[in-house]
Amino acid sequence: MKESLKKYAELALQTGVNLQKGQGLLIQAPIEAVEFVRIVVKQAYEMGAKNVHTEWSDDQLTLLKMTHAPPMEVLETFPEWRKEAMISMVKDGYAVLNIYGGENPDLLQDIDGKRMAAVTKARSNALKEYREYMMNDRARWSIVGYPTLEWAQKIFPDDTAEAAKEKLWNEIFRIARVDKNDPIKAWEQHNAILKKAREYLNEKNYSKLHFTAKGTDLTIELPKGHIWHGGAATATDRVVFNPNIPTEEVFTMPHKYGVNGTVTSTKPLSFQGQLIEDFSLTFKDGKVVDYQCEKGKEALKHLLEADDDGASRLGEVALVPHESPVSQAGIIFFNTLFDENASCHIALGKAYPTNIKGGSEMNEQQMDQHGVNDSIVHEDFMIGSADMNIDGITEDGTAEAIFRNGTWAISF
Ligand code: ZN
Ligand code: ZN
Repeated sequence: MKESLKKYAELALQTGVNLQKGQGLLIQAPIEAVEFVRIVVKQAYEMGAKNVHTEWSDDQLTLLKMTHAPPMEVLETFPEWRKEAMISMVKDGYAVLNIYGGENPDLLQDIDGKRMAAVTKARSNALKEYREYMMNDRARWSIVGYPTLEWAQKIFPDDTAEAAKEKLWNEIFRIARVDKNDPIKAWEQHNAILKKAREYLNEKNYSKLHFTAKGTDLTIELPKGHIWHGGAATATDRVVFNPNIPTEEVFTMPHKYGVNGTVTSTKPLSFQGQLIEDFSLTFKDGKVVDYQCEKGKEALKHLLEADDDGASRLGEVALVPHESPVSQAGIIFFNTLFDENASCHIALGKAYPTNIKGGSEMNEQQMDQHGVNDSIVHEDFMIGSADMNIDGITEDGTAEAIFRNGTWAISF
């Protein structure tokens, strides 16, 4: 276990944020992960970090605060000092490592949705500038998973907490390729395949994608100049990093006015501590005009109405083969970092400006003209399945097979 933790920490710092000598590091982690965080911090200093700052979070403190119902004005404001602290670190070139303990989807189920929405909105608005650093790859950042007891038990409810946690560690190590002799090399090989896939799609430059599966018939127009990304990214300082560990996707942006048809989710979406399940969305000219939802309809409504317009349009379309290591686990992780890498997905909300030529330099008006969606949210949800077919439609209207029966129709 100790050896695996060390390898995992090394992977997060080298393959993940690619920490450089003399660089600062901001870690965001649940307090439960303290032992692992200490291993990461020790290695970070050994790699020459100038400073490591850790921002702790704790589900129980969040629950206490929300249960004791602070006044709305507290929920509606994000402290200025916290905002300043976050921005000043990324401005100073800090890398950001998010050790993600998984959202406990049931934690806040009894809390009034309006209160949760206020907190999310205040946080999103306050951290807009900070977030821009990540979304434009101006800061090197990475998210890795950590099995908190609650998260582990949510996935393996029949096991004791400790046994569940160990099971989840094993899944995380396998999926993150930490079980390989040389995880860093394994990631280089994995990144090479994702690179071939994204280069193929960039070369093809399809004008539309057509998704069909049970409950899904969706056409997504791709904006002119769209760029497919996947695997390792290159930050503005030219240093290569991996924003997500794991990652199995290649992704680009839909045209915000060019999505039509109906899409059905294939896994639950956890939003603001609530689960949204078995839902389908119908789009017209890029906007959700109708939706069905079996469970968590109110949370879905809050998501779609999180802002005036952007939250009900798409900001991402991602292709993931149905037999990825994550889906091989055969479990639902209730955690987007993992679940999104099990299957093809799309995201409601903000698009990554890096998914279009010149996107990082566009102002709001130019973004709109090019079909780049903007929003205070970015929420991925899964649409892939073993029976999903995807065609790429060329400029002249020819359909070419990209996915057949849930996986690539092309070999890389
Ligand atoms: Zn994605
Ligand atoms: Zn996403």
